Amino acid sequence: MSPKPIILWFRNDLRLADNRALIAAAALGRPIVPVFILDDEAPGAWARGGASRWWLAGSLESLSKALEKAGSRLILRRGASVSILTTLAKETGADLVYASRAYEPWAAKLETVVHDALAAAGVEFKRTSGALLFEPERLRTKAGDPFKVYTPFWRALREVGDPQQPKPAPKKIAAPPSWPKSDTLADWKLSPSKPDWAGGMREAWSPGEDGAQKRLATFLKTALRDYATNRDRPDMPSTSRLSPHLHFGEISPAQCWHAASAHAAANPGSERGLEVFLKEVVWREFSYHLLVHWPTLPEEPFRPEFARFPWADDKSGKLLKAWQKGQTGYPLVDAGMRQLWTTGWMHNRVRMVAASFLVKHLRLPWQAGEAWFWDTLVDADLASNAASWQWVAGSGADAAPYFRIFNPIKQGETFDPDGKYIRQWVPELAKLPDDCIHKPWEAPPTVLAAAGVTLGKTYPHPIVNHASARDAALKAFEALKGG
Ligand code: FAD
Repeated sequence: MSPKPIILWFRNDLRLADNRALIAAAALGRPIVPVFILDDEAPGAWARGGASRWWLAGSLESLSKALEKAGSRLILRRGASVSILTTLAKETGADLVYASRAYEPWAAKLETVVHDALAAAGVEFKRTSGALLFEPERLRTKAGDPFKVYTPFWRALREVGDPQQPKPAPKKIAAPPSWPKSDTLADWKLSPSKPDWAGGMREAWSPGEDGAQKRLATFLKTALRDYATNRDRPDMPSTSRLSPHLHFGEISPAQCWHAASAHAAANPGSERGLEVFLKEVVWREFSYHLLVHWPTLPEEPFRPEFARFPWADDKSGKLLKAWQKGQTGYPLVDAGMRQLWTTGWMHNRVRMVAASFLVKHLRLPWQAGEAWFWDTLVDADLASNAASWQWVAGSGADAAPYFRIFNPIKQGETFDPDGKYIRQWVPELAKLPDDCIHKPWEAPPTVLAAAGVTLGKTYPHPIVNHASARDAALKAFEALKGG
């Protein structure tokens, strides 16, 4: 009699190397049935946005090929995870399901439901870690509470020591005697058609484990050394762009941690770059820590007084639309919003400026920005997105203080000094000289004419005045404090 197969339930862990669920299942020496479930029905779930669905298609295609190379297959099923897993266990005779643990509040609840349903059917459910460096429950303040402030969180994490060394992928994955039926990726229509808006994303990205490893290798070779000084420059390829790969689990944070540390050890002069890079990876970790301990983080302000914030009246949606489409008249904000629309990604410095502009200059709720990012980012991540929006809005744990209002002109002049980033993403301003490109409304008419710019026609006038918008925001925040 052949041994009972094990179901390997893939989630946001779409890789073979350093996948503890796969490695644990393979170690048992029994056949494995890998499955990915497109579950749009899980209660409380934030359904994947458009850009994420496009990424998922590429990532599953890559995973499927990698599994085939190892002698296995990826079974695709669509529907409620609970019923699909119980049915699949019955169909295949499996008595054990392995999965990587997920941390979104709805995903955690789903794990309990899956556990109970499988147990009732006599099937064991086992979870492994791996999406984070350490489990979010592991780090606590001296008083035994979860952290609300990043720096002590970082220190506590360093005191624990280095994360586990990553493990290689199993070379062979045993197949079951017969394969259960599977959907095809084409059935799921994850990629857009009519219109196909994914052209810019296809050019910019290679979803999948190989793409992630290549991205990491390039970053280490070309940008780690100077990361501490260059990471704020949107006009340079100065950051890793690993965020979507990390979100989908095509690479683990432990792989990034150890590869970057080994690279820095072999390349003297990279120590500072390494430390700042690891600190950023730990911002991701901190975001998950917050989400696990404050599960309402994506919906409600962490500081409750912010629920009373007097948001501006934008009934027609005109302000929000202008921001979404990159038509605010502030070149750095518009460049960022168009980079996001075209490639599904935006540089972190520009994310902060564009988000601050929405919440403070336009006084629109951070949840509206969070929702737009959720739909358009290829790295849309419930923990990092919610924590970052609340950080910018001033309502979060360890947030930027409310009076910190990014000046989109100064930010442009400092971090995109030659206007290279603006010229790429706002081409109608490309011919403006450097000293006007961040504030075209101050350019003399002759300069505008020579650059082919007609404000209000080829490029919008600023939708709000910086100085008065800033004053209005400060007043609103002051009122909140007093109330
Ligand atoms: P690198 O600079 O190379 O950093 C390495 C890794 O560290 C990143 O891939 C990411 O996983 C992590 N990281 C870096 N900065 C942060 C941060 N501030 N918070 C959490 N993790 C961080 N990041 C997401 O992954 N998903 C989101 O949905 C998301 N939404 C954001 C919304 C706003 C308003 C802001 C201001 C930031 C948001 N971020 C989000 C954080 C950050 O902008 C991106 O992680 C980063 O720009 C990704 O680029 P990179 O991979 O080149 O980063």
